[in-house]
Amino acid sequence: MPFEDPRCLMCRKCCIETEMILLPSDIERIKRFTELDIDRFAVFRDGFYRLRNVDGRCIFLDDNGCRIYPIKPIGCSIYPLIFDSIHGPVIDSLCPLAKEFIYRCRDIEEALNLLKDFLRELEDSYSYRVNWNTFYRESKRLIDMCNRR
Ligand code: SF4
Ligand code: SF4
Repeated sequence: MPFEDPRCLMCRKCCIETEMILLPSDIERIKRFTELDIDRFAVFRDGFYRLRNVDGRCIFLDDNGCRIYPIKPIGCSIYPLIFDSIHGPVIDSLCPLAKEFIYRCRDIEEALNLLKDFLRELEDSYSYRVNWNTFYRESKRLIDMCNRR
């Protein structure tokens, strides 16, 4: 979501000390859009390429927001939905909009579909395995909870 969604408060919490994981498709889009080499915007840490931070802030964050928001990484697009390797998909309470987001069932469904694509590409491109039982169980729980509200 960050920034282009009118409901985003632009508090920038999701762009500070986050080091978002980058998929190969994210990296290619960013390279084309910015004409930067990968080493300028990414670091390889804990088994994944991630967005480089400078002084604790994403390298693409400036005073006006995200400099690459039209092509931002999938992980940034689906935020505040995040993936926890133990608990599966969860809505990050760090985002001030988290409490509102849990009522937006269509947004949650759309974000879960994007998250599924993200995780498939993550498995294809990194040595990471997803617990798909947890993913499907918790996805259903999030949608059911939303629909009951
Ligand atoms: S790419 Fe944009 S939305 Fe993603 S962390 Fe960086 S500044 Fe924030
Ligand atoms: S933490 Fe939430 S409200 Fe703040 S900038 Fe990110 S998406 Fe927007």
